[in-house]
Parts: sequence; C-alpha cells; structure tokens
Amino acid sequence: MSEKIEFQTEVAKLLDIVVNSLYSEKYIFLRELISNASDACDKLKYWSLMNKEVAPKSGGFKIVITPDEKEKTLTISDNGIGMNKEDLINHIGTIAKSGTADFVKNVKDNGSIVDLIGQFGVGFYSAFMVAKKVEITTKKAGEKKAYLWVSDGLDGYEIIDAKKQSNGTDIKLFLKDDAKDFADSIYLRHIIRTYSDHVEYPIVLNLGKAGEETVNTASALWTRNKGEITDEQYKEFYRHLSKNMDDPWLTLHFKAEGSIEYNALLYIPSTAPYDLFQPDRQQNLKLYVNKVFISDKIEGLMPAYLRFVKGVIDSSDLPLNISREMLQQNALLSKIRQGVVSRILKELKKRTKDYDDYLKFWNAFGIAFKEGIYEDFSNREEVASLSLFASTNDKLRLTTLDEYISRAKEDQKAIYYITGDDVSTLRHNPQLEAFKEKGIEVLLLTHPIDEFWTQVLTSYKTFAVKHISTADINLKIERNEKKADEGDLKKLTDFMAELFKSEVGKVEISEKLTKSPAALNVENGQMSIHLERLMRNHQQQTAFASTRILELNPYHPLIIKLSEMVSNDEKKNEVADVSRLILDQAKIAEGETVSDAAFFSEKLSQYILQSL
Ligand code: ADP
Ligand code: MG
Repeated sequence: MSEKIEFQTEVAKLLDIVVNSLYSEKYIFLRELISNASDACDKLKYWSLMNKEVAPKSGGFKIVITPDEKEKTLTISDNGIGMNKEDLINHIGTIAKSGTADFVKNVKDNGSIVDLIGQFGVGFYSAFMVAKKVEITTKKAGEKKAYLWVSDGLDGYEIIDAKKQSNGTDIKLFLKDDAKDFADSIYLRHIIRTYSDHVEYPIVLNLGKAGEETVNTASALWTRNKGEITDEQYKEFYRHLSKNMDDPWLTLHFKAEGSIEYNALLYIPSTAPYDLFQPDRQQNLKLYVNKVFISDKIEGLMPAYLRFVKGVIDSSDLPLNISREMLQQNALLSKIRQGVVSRILKELKKRTKDYDDYLKFWNAFGIAFKEGIYEDFSNREEVASLSLFASTNDKLRLTTLDEYISRAKEDQKAIYYITGDDVSTLRHNPQLEAFKEKGIEVLLLTHPIDEFWTQVLTSYKTFAVKHISTADINLKIERNEKKADEGDLKKLTDFMAELFKSEVGKVEISEKLTKSPAALNVENGQMSIHLERLMRNHQQQTAFASTRILELNPYHPLIIKLSEMVSNDEKKNEVADVSRLILDQAKIAEGETVSDAAFFSEKLSQYILQSL
C-alpha cells in the first residue's frame, strides 16, 4: 500500500524558506533530529512505567547515528515510541501550531531561521537544509505495522507499508552535494559533542566495521554535580531547553533538601520570546520524577509572572504512577513552586547590585515580572522591591522603591506615582509642577499592569503608595506674584463650570500649578484618567467616568486676564473660546484628545496670527 499526500500550505511555505535560503549553521538539523529522538525515548520511558511490555528488551534507550560516506547518507535511529500512520500525517506533514504566519514574518524580519526553527516546533523540517530526500522508517511501540515516509521536501510525501523489526524510528537523509561533510564521522563526533552532549541517552556513532562509539556524556545534566559541569555545557543545555540561540542571563542550579527533595536547573533567557504576552503562552518548566520526563505542561509549577523561566525540576518524592492531571493538584507541587520562586527572587536580589546587568533582565521581562506585585500575594513586597521604575529623579536611570525611599523628604510619608501612556508626556504633566517645586520625587508609570498593582500594593515598608491626585501633603507653593482677584476668579470658575457642564464636574482654583494655566484632575479616590482611557480602549468602560476637575492656576497671566474679562458681556464669546482652548490644553497634557479638533486648530491659528 502506498499513498501520496500533499503538504499542508503552511508546511510547503516553510519548506520553501528552509530549502531556498543559505545558512552557515546547517549543523543545527542534527541537534533537532537528536532532540526529537530523545523526546521519543522520553515518551516511551514514561509509557513503560505503566506497561513493562513496551520497554526496550535489552540495553536501554539509545540514539544511533550511522554515516555512509560512499552513499552520502546519514541515518539517525532511536528505539523510542515510534510513529503510526496517523502520527506521520498529523505530526510530520502538518504544523499544529497556529504560529506559522508568525514564523514566516519573523524570518522575514530577522532573516535567520536558525534561531526560530526550534521555538516554533518545526525542527524536523531543518532536515531539508541538508537533505534532498528524507526517508523515515518507523514502527510505533505496541503496534504491528511499520511505515516508510518519503519526501523530497518539495510538494508532498508518500507513505508506504514497510517492514521493521523493533519499535522506533530511523531517519535517513540523502545528503545534498554541499552537505556531504555530514557523512564524515570526525565532523559528526565534533558537532554531537558540542551541541548534544547533555542528551541523557547514549548517542552512539556507528562506524561500521570500526565498531560503535558512545560520543556524549549521557547522564541527565541536572543530576550531575555543579563542579563537573562546564559553562559551555550549561549553555548548550539551555539552548536545547529554550530552543533559543542566546546565552542565559541567569543560570541557577541547586538541590533542595528538607521536607521535599528536588533538583532544579533553571534559566532566565537574555531576550524575551516573541509570545511573552500571548494569552495562550504556557510556563516552560519540564517536570521529571526520578529522571523520568513527566510533562512540560504542568500548570502551577511556576506562577504566570515568571513564565519566562526555563528549566528542569526533578524530584523523587513525587509519585510516578499517578496521572499528569492528578499530579497538578498534588500538594508537594505547590511546595516545590514556593521553594523555586523564593530561590529565583533571592538570586534576582543579588543581581540588582549591578544596575547595568540587572537592566538587561528588566528590559526583557520587567513588564511581565511586575504582574507578580499583583498576582503573588505572599511575595508581593519582595517582587515590588525587585522592580524598577522611571521617575522624576533621573531622566535616564530607573529607580527601585528602596532608592526612592532613601531620597524621600523628611516629612514625606508616601511613595507618589502618576500613570499615563508614555514617560515623556508624563514628565510634562501639569500635576507634577508642585512636586517638582517642592523637590518630591514621583514615579512615572506607563504600563497597563501598573494600574493594577497600584490598587493592591497600597503601602511599601512604612510608606503609603499613592497616586499624586490623592496626595495629602501640603503642596501649596508660597509666592508673592500677582494673583487674580478673588471675586473675578469666582465669576470665571462659575462661567467655566456652566460652559463645560457636560464634560467637567467641577472647576476649582489650585495653588499647585506653577507653569500651566490649568490641569485636569479626578475626584480623590476615583479611577485615574489613564485607567479610564485604558478601559475605554478595551470597551470595558462606557458610562461610569470619574468626575473630572478642571483646576485653574490663579497666578497665570492668562487666567488673570480671563477673570478680568469675564464680567464684560461684549467679551463673553472670546472668553468662552479661550476657556475651551485651556481645557483642550489640559486634556492634551493628560494624553486625552480634544473634544472638537476642527475648533481647536481653527482657534489656535487665529490666535497665533493675532500675535504675529
Ligand atoms: P517538535 O519536536 O517541536 O514537536 P518537530 O518538527 O521537531 O517539532 O517534530 C514534530 C513531531 O514529529 C514531534 O512532536 C513528534 O511527534 C514527531 N517526531 C519527530 N521525530 C520523531 C521521532 N524520532 N520519533 C517519534 N516521533 C517523532
Ligand atoms: Mg523537535
């Protein structure tokens, strides 16, 4: 029986990129195929716990690499789980992930598929970088039929009934002319040692008459002693796990002893993955029980705000024979999580001492990490203390909360913050004028998550955490400049309150402004203008807007002038126009849009012309 099947459109597109681009790092195909062979052994090892029948009859699991220099072929064999016909169709001919479009776009943007091929779960196709034809002979454990899958990587593949003695998979590559080196055993030995040493199963180089040779160390890296592991080995294992090509920013290898024992080898990458903020993004820890791979999809092993941590956790205290679903609810798991989280936070604390180094971590993962202030109730203060913020103190350098506190004024009892869309607009927010005048630092928060953690972290150490609109310190600025007449001001505020009654709840006089004629504020304790805007953008907010307060600066020449004009009936229209421009200006300073753009630009041009 033989059947011809066309590639799924995505696969064909992908193959086209793989086959028609030039790479210097072709050798990565071997790392990918060995990694698949190792995964296949993991799967069968797990299955054989329940069903002894399927375990290898003799010699254990292994991966055999057979080069043939004469025929210019290379075969990668494993005695793992193998594939049946459905597996071949569903896993080899199809890309399950919806991310192919992302992949193609990323390749176009970055020009390198080498970094991306593993991340997108398309490692198998890298075989076509070096092969003009690929034959897969495979038999699934516990089943009788074997299959041969053949493809030239162009438009489709063929599946043919085949004969194979034992379960597992042989992948035979017919090497392209420019890839003949991969049939050379010296070169092969070198790349296996360099890129696949960490694989826990023996990788055996089959040299024909010259015999067989195990090339790698073949023991689970995380169970070895720290002293026996080189930096390079740690890095290679990281690349294997994370499918990234970068170096890890943090490598953390430890053995926990006490009420529950486990080995952990954890990494924080130095760059963020493309899908850090995609809702379906899963955590990245592989769970082993006594060196048997259980799952990399155990929820709750790592809190969401640390979803960028990659690594392995191996414990012999967890039960092997319960289902993955049951394991999820196991109380020991939450103990492991607590232990692992506190180790990571401790390690981060150490690294904060070198600002430039810590900034690399922060720039890559800070926004996700800050979710922990909101999410991780038991470590809330700790996560906050590890977070960096822009502030009015220094234009370039970010600050920690502790540094902020160390600079606080003598009578200052709160950490003040303001929220908005971006730091440079925030710096010019009129609400900050009094704080600048008094030398009180304000944090400038610009991420949506900031609106959420500030709701729950209401104090830090002995300081309250407050939005500047709720500041209860004396921000009144002493000055002896000319001020508008009290009676006139009253008339002006009444006039504006009436004029803007559909947009603004109140018009008040403020002693807190130094430069701007006016500013927008909200009633104490109400939702900030920024949060309201965020919710509006997500269609979650329609009717319940906070009460806006338009604050006027009684020392500003424009306000003085208007207050003098407001009683003059002939000037009413002009006062109304200028008042509206003042409100629009205050809106712009808050990052809001003006209510009537046509009016705004027409009046602005008119006044500019008058002044010229
Ligand atoms: P990934 O390994 O990220 O899933 P690949 O493209 O490398 O992506 O492999 C696709 C799938 O093909 C694997 O998930 C697995 O189901 C199957 N597969 C590949 N190689 C083997 C093998 N040697 N034995 C069994 N299954 C395999
Ligand atoms: Mg793979």
